[in-house]
Amino acid sequence: TSPTIPTHTKARVLIIGATGFIGKFVTEASLLTAHPTYLLLRPPPLVPSKDAIVKTFQEKGAIIIHGVINNKDFVEKILKEHEIDIVISAIGAKSLLDQLILVEAMKSVKTIKRFLASEFGHDVDRADPVEPGLTMYKEKQLVRRVVEQSGVPYTNICCNSIASWPYYDNCHPSQLPPPLDQLQIYGHGNVKAYFVDGVDIGKFTMKVIDDVRTINKNVHFRPSNNCYSINELASLWEMKIGRTIPRVTVSEDDLLAAAAESCIPQSIVASFTHDIFIKGCQVNFSIDGVDDVEISTLYPDEEFRSLEDCYEDFAHMIEDNIHKGEHKITGTKSVVEAVPIMASCG
Ligand code: NDP
Repeated sequence: TSPTIPTHTKARVLIIGATGFIGKFVTEASLLTAHPTYLLLRPPPLVPSKDAIVKTFQEKGAIIIHGVINNKDFVEKILKEHEIDIVISAIGAKSLLDQLILVEAMKSVKTIKRFLASEFGHDVDRADPVEPGLTMYKEKQLVRRVVEQSGVPYTNICCNSIASWPYYDNCHPSQLPPPLDQLQIYGHGNVKAYFVDGVDIGKFTMKVIDDVRTINKNVHFRPSNNCYSINELASLWEMKIGRTIPRVTVSEDDLLAAAAESCIPQSIVASFTHDIFIKGCQVNFSIDGVDDVEISTLYPDEEFRSLEDCYEDFAHMIEDNIHKGEHKITGTKSVVEAVPIMASCG
């Protein structure tokens, strides 16, 4: 008799926040690597743009489940029913504490082999932003502690900054081009940070989920080819577009003042920008603790897409827009860390 071929040799993955900025990259990567992929979405209606994304995912094989993560009985039921092995949360900043109920549910079912909480940024136990970013990090820290106590195996993805221009007054991250009018340089402009393409965030996240070397670790993304100061970013952009752009200094005090305005979400982004480009929170520690691992040491043959290539794409995007008669780049500014909260100032 022929041996039985298992229907699923790959871990079954449940993704929360699949319609979000980071969640989309993770979902794409999960589908691409042929993992049985389940998406927990909040009950409809979805906004049309998100509806279209979900349809694309379904066409690629994603299985949609409607519901919320802060209902323990419901989550337990779906984890059992679909025999989920891995849970990846890319839930937005506003809902981070909803993950506490999810953790309770995973603890109860006892079958989850790995949980990736909604981290996807800095090592929140090491970074030290001023308020209002600090509150968000305290929530992420609390989730870490509850996960650690739960006994559910976990991995924290510390992927640093998304590969684009780090606007300090950003509302929500996206991969939009650097500016054409002026380049804002934070402080003296020489503090370095790491930049990672969204596709690579998805790709490497899927690599770690069932790698035994990443159980109960913080996995740091520090691609050596993508470590840039803001001065270097500015020069790279000028090189790509073939001209210089006026540079203006945004001082440490300017960033602190923007953070102190408590204008949400921009002030949160200002506080992260201060932590990254003034205090050096991505580079001011070495990864040598027993809880830490750098991703390139795990997969030395896997390359990260270079920031040079990402900026090349932005330059082409601009050229295309000019050809189409659009002289201005429009849309939300790009990135430092995530803050999907409606604007409000207090
Ligand atoms: P988004 O705001 O883009 O998306 C949030 C997602 O979570 C959406 O799919 C949303 O669903 C879903 N969601 C929110 N609340 C709930 C809930 N209660 N139940 C189920 N689903 C829910 O988030 P981001 O992608 O910006 O952020 C995700 C993580 O990544 C955060 O931890 C953030 O800090 C980090 N990040 C880091 C970046 C970096 O530069 N390193 C950049 C961006 C994010 P719905 O569609 O229904 O609203």
